[in-house]
Amino acid sequence: MENNIDLNIKIYIPSEDKIITRNIEDFVKELLAWSIPMSFHIEALKCQSIIIRTNLIRLIKGGGNREGKDSKWDISIDSFKGIMPIQEYKDIWGKDYSKNVRLIEMVVKETNGVIITFKDKPIDARFHDVCGGATENSENVDGNVVLYLRKVLCNYCQESPLIHNYKDISVEDIEAKLNIRFSKASPIKNMAIEDMFDDIIRDEEGRVVRLKVAGKEFEGKEIMKLLGLESTRFSWKPKFIRFFTMGKGDGVGLCQYGANMLAHEGRRAEEILNYYYTGVTIKKNENQCMKYPLKGKVIVIDAAHGGESSEDNSSINGTREKDINLSIAINLERELRKKGAIVYMTRTEDIFVPLSQRAELINKNKPDFFITIHQNYIKNSSVSGTEIYFFRGDKEAERLGKIIMKKITTAIETIDRGLKTADFYLLRDTNVSGIHVEIGYLSNPIEEKKLLDEHYIDRIVTAMIEAILFYYEVGNNIPLK
Ligand SMILES: [Zn+2]
Ligand SMILES: [Zn+2]
Repeated sequence: MENNIDLNIKIYIPSEDKIITRNIEDFVKELLAWSIPMSFHIEALKCQSIIIRTNLIRLIKGGGNREGKDSKWDISIDSFKGIMPIQEYKDIWGKDYSKNVRLIEMVVKETNGVIITFKDKPIDARFHDVCGGATENSENVDGNVVLYLRKVLCNYCQESPLIHNYKDISVEDIEAKLNIRFSKASPIKNMAIEDMFDDIIRDEEGRVVRLKVAGKEFEGKEIMKLLGLESTRFSWKPKFIRFFTMGKGDGVGLCQYGANMLAHEGRRAEEILNYYYTGVTIKKNENQCMKYPLKGKVIVIDAAHGGESSEDNSSINGTREKDINLSIAINLERELRKKGAIVYMTRTEDIFVPLSQRAELINKNKPDFFITIHQNYIKNSSVSGTEIYFFRGDKEAERLGKIIMKKITTAIETIDRGLKTADFYLLRDTNVSGIHVEIGYLSNPIEEKKLLDEHYIDRIVTAMIEAILFYYEVGNNIPLK
């Protein structure tokens, strides 16, 4: 599948001292594989892809920390230690490889262009593995108050295998890393370790007479015997310290395990993001989508009939269906192109094109869908209205048809004569979704007259564009009445 978006990010590769340009959506896929287990719930994966995209766009827009950055690139690849192309996960994912690749494709496509904003700017979308019960206010971690990075309770990551963890660190390591020296234990020193060794009593020789171990009293002799020590003149010194931790990461922003659990409880990505980031808005990145919302979509427009075709309807006044169809098709083509779609036309002039050739063009170009445009004719001149047909079982065509019907009948105030199934040649002999639209009746003099008016054609075309945007959910601001 093609990407909808042309937005690119410039990445610096220090090892080769070069800058590469990557498409944002492609890079999101790689970063998704790199930053979250693929076993997570799809809504948690969507959260993560929105987070990644938000952070990348923030970088491009110059909102992030651009320390050390020269103007030629947005980020250094060193910020993503261990990142690799998706193909290189073959060995790691094994038999799940193709499943995971499909999952990534789907998640990134479904969140296409979506980012998290605060006051209309992409946020610093921080995240961590496991918060351990509550996330953290930003100022407690790095000193800056960030209004959307507030502490929220999170009881959702308790089941995570990462919530309780420990690390054994040798005393030597601690000394080296903290640049300190622990005092050397001498046999006569009373080294109490609270709750482990307390109340140590020694004689003048330094022999342990009595002590408490974990609150229980022992004689020195007993300890010597039970632990098999050589003498009662003993002391102790830890060689390793076990540090226990709760949670993983700095606790700022979204808790990945918590997000996963919320997803399993049925929450959608948007709700989850709204939970962890306070007061944010989740929406399509405007720069990406406003100008070319149909970028990457492939659509075939079929102006039905043309030349000398016996099926072409004509009114008693001589208005030809083929001409109205072509006029709508050409206008629709122009408007779809303006929105970024790739449009193929079965004809752009008054010529005869056989149905088989039209079907071939559709099958060859594999559009997202096609629309074949017609005008109706019936003996009874009082009948008017719009009809739309789709091939039985073609759910996408049915959904698109339904939206187009609503938009057209509202825009030009025609009667909704129904969305119906049919096995017309093009609907049947093509292997993509398609709809057959009969906009109006040339047999009805009022409708015929309207169809000859270019403003009326404009309204039809605008309604169809709005419908297609709505179908792709890039025109959500247009209410579907
Ligand atoms: Zn948590
Ligand atoms: Zn027709």
